[in-house]
Parts: sequence; structure tokens; C-alpha cells
Amino acid sequence: MTRTSEDLKSIQKRLGSLYPEAICMLDHRNAYELTVATILSAQCTDARVNNTTPLLFRMYPNPKDLSLAKVKDIERVIKPTGFYKNKSKFLIAMAKQVVQYHQGSIPTQIEDLIQLPGVGKKTANVILSVAFGVPAMAVDTHVGRLARRLGLSNSMNPNQVEKDLCELFDRRTWSLLHHQLITHGRSTCKAQSPLCHSCKLRALCPTGLREKKDPHTGHWVKSRERIVSLVPSITELLCNWGMVTSLVGRTNYCIHPSSDLQKIPKVGGTKNPRLKNILAAKPTLVILERSENTLKISQELKAEKIPTLTLDVTNFRSWIQSYQLLGSRLNQEPRSKKSISELRKSIRGHRHKNLKVLILIWKSPWIAAGSQSYCGGLIQALGGRVLGDTKKSTGYPRLNSAELVKLKPNLILLPTEPYPFNDKHLKELQRLFPDSDVNIMDGELATWYLSRTSSALRYLRRHYFD
Ligand code: SF4
Repeated sequence: MTRTSEDLKSIQKRLGSLYPEAICMLDHRNAYELTVATILSAQCTDARVNNTTPLLFRMYPNPKDLSLAKVKDIERVIKPTGFYKNKSKFLIAMAKQVVQYHQGSIPTQIEDLIQLPGVGKKTANVILSVAFGVPAMAVDTHVGRLARRLGLSNSMNPNQVEKDLCELFDRRTWSLLHHQLITHGRSTCKAQSPLCHSCKLRALCPTGLREKKDPHTGHWVKSRERIVSLVPSITELLCNWGMVTSLVGRTNYCIHPSSDLQKIPKVGGTKNPRLKNILAAKPTLVILERSENTLKISQELKAEKIPTLTLDVTNFRSWIQSYQLLGSRLNQEPRSKKSISELRKSIRGHRHKNLKVLILIWKSPWIAAGSQSYCGGLIQALGGRVLGDTKKSTGYPRLNSAELVKLKPNLILLPTEPYPFNDKHLKELQRLFPDSDVNIMDGELATWYLSRTSSALRYLRRHYFD
């Protein structure tokens, strides 16, 4: 596959916005330490190397000291990095050569670097670019894999991949691009299970677009996210966004749109979903909301290393942020932008302000939706004042009848969810508040956030705020 210069520019632009300052993650203070750390990093994580090198550098602060070291002493220190027997021999041989032929300093020419024991072309390029600031394209396992998946090279030979990449990209960008590709490989374009559904390069990637099999695994990459939604209104929103085929689990309360959800397995309630059922769905993402779901399930999922997205929906700003988070995580930016634009439109223009509103969500005891609740957020987005906050709670405060009467609301709303308020309650409250406008409101419209927020705002505005 040939990549156009537009493709290449777009790939670099996206990598640039994702990882503007990607750098070498191996701790080092000079070229000698970087050389040692890079040799140790073969088949080992940077974090483990960084745990090992402080002691090693204290024991052998320069090539001369290292050249005089005993193999057994080094083995003891670097054992956690794996292949420690070979690496110990390489380190000492490398140091001896540096002392003997390069006056104790790491050489600055590629021809000399690749002669050092344990230093191949990749390591030499890392040293050149990171320690000496010379543009170089080091091709490690991540860079090679990404180059092939992105259609930037067809070769399995690192030297050829290096050549291909160097021909495609401007020399001045090689070093940064190398670190960006490594970072993306670690975070998203993983070896066995690339996270294509949430990858920002997907639109530019023939593997992610399933135009070709994954050159790394030989299989087609998974085409879609597997989402378990523990939030009924987000389940509805995802269906509205055309993502029902990505849903692999829902709660017992995720009931809309019923025709779409019939075949989606249930995993339990919103407060007590069964972890076993969630795991059985093999999700790539579980969606939660801070007040709807418990911290316990969020922690259990994290312990199982299941990716989660936790939303917070108490006010206008958090609704926008939630749409943005969902749009970006699910690669649904156009739909997210449309939802945000509808939301903004629903509060635009002149309207009656300072309406004092009491929203009751429960009876015996009376519980109000306070200023820090979703319903409270609806009223405030339209410029109204939410009544009922107490010193103890601004979320869902409990109030006795005397406290209620003192509030003197202009408007009382009785959503039919979660408490089934009906005409009997309406009349009771009309007697208690003869000067207030008391109304029953469709509970789902009042409480199903994000999927019905714009409709709820339009309804409230039309009936009470215009
Ligand atoms: S779309 Fe998939 S294969 Fe392509 S770069 Fe992203 S994660 Fe890798």
C-alpha cells in the first residue's frame, strides 16, 4: 500500500497531538548511562530497567569502573532485567572497548557504536538521537509493528523498516516520531490486541480499517468495541448513536430502546451488577456514572484490568464533558458534537430567570433533588434556582414538612421516577403549597441524563421558563 504525503502528514499530526512531548523513558544522565540502560532494556520493560540502574550506576559510575567489574557482581544487580548472564558479559565487554578504543567516552559515530558488544543498530540509533541529538530512526519491536500495521513498511527486517521510514519522513522529525510510535504501541497499538476501536489513527490505518489482516498476528483486528453499560440512560444514548452492535452487556434497568436491547445480556442491577457476568461478556470497556454506580464495582473492574469510563453528570459543563469523553473514547466525535450542539441550542435565548424550583424525588421521607444533582442541573442550566439544599446535602437532601413549607417555591416538580408520584400526591402538595405551581413530570424525561437532556430542557423551558 502506498501512503500519500497527505496520509503521512495526517499520521504525524495526530501522533503530535496525542504525544507532543514523547521522550525516551529510560532514566539516564549521560551517554554512558543511556548505553547501559538500552542494553539492559532488551526483552525488559523500561520501568524494570529504571529500578535496576540506580544501584548499577552507583557501583560503576563510568566505563572504566564497569570495565573492571566482576561478572558475578553485575549479574546479581541486573538479574531482574532478564537474560542477565549475557547482558552482564556485554556490559563489561562494551565498557572495555570504550576504554580501550574511545578514551573512555561513548563514541558518537554509528560505525563505532555498532561495533560495541551488545549494541545493535537499534541501540546505536537510540544513543545517537537521545544522547547526542543526531536525527535517527531506531526500529524496535513497537516501531516495526506500527510501521507494518500503518502501511509504512512491508518488511520484517528492522534495517529495511528503518530505511522505509527514513525515506517517508523528514529527517528532522525522526527522533520524535520514533518515541511517538513507541508510546502509541505501548498504550494503544498493542502487540496481540490492538485497541483499534479507540485509536486516533484508525481512519488512517489499513489494519484498523480492516483493509488488510494484521501483519503482526496474521488475523483480522477486532472491528468493534465490546461495551458493557451499567448506566441505563447511556445505554439509550449509545443506541441513539447507532452503537447497539457494540453493546455486549447492560443492567436490568437498561430498558430503552427495548426493541434494540432484547438480545443484549443483563449483568445485574446498577448498584449490584455481577462481576462474573460482566467478565463473561469480555468487555473492552465498561461505562459507569459516579452516583448511579458504586465505587466497589469500579474498583473490582480495575483490579481485573477491565478498562472503564466513569462519567459525572451533575451540571451543564459536566454534560458537555461527558459527551466529549464518550465521543473521543468511542470514536464518535461527529455524534458527540451533534449532541453538544443540540444541548447548547436548548438553552439559548431569552427566558424567565430566577424561578425558585423544588424538585421532589421521594416521599416519606421527603427527598429533594438539590443543586448538585442532575435534575438540579437542568433547572440551573435554564437560569432557575434550586431549593432544598441542606447543610448535610446538596445532592439529595432529606426534608421534613415544616422545612418544605419554609422554602416557598414558585414551582414544584414531581417526577414519576424514582418515586411513583401521582394525582393524589399532586393534590396533597397543592394543599400544602397553595401559592405554588405544582406539576407532575415524566420521570424518565427528568432523570435519563445525556440521552434525554436536551428534550428535558426544551420541555421545562416551554412549560415554565419561556
Ligand atoms: S488502528 Fe489499530 S492497528 Fe492501526 S495504529 Fe491504531 S491500534 Fe494500531
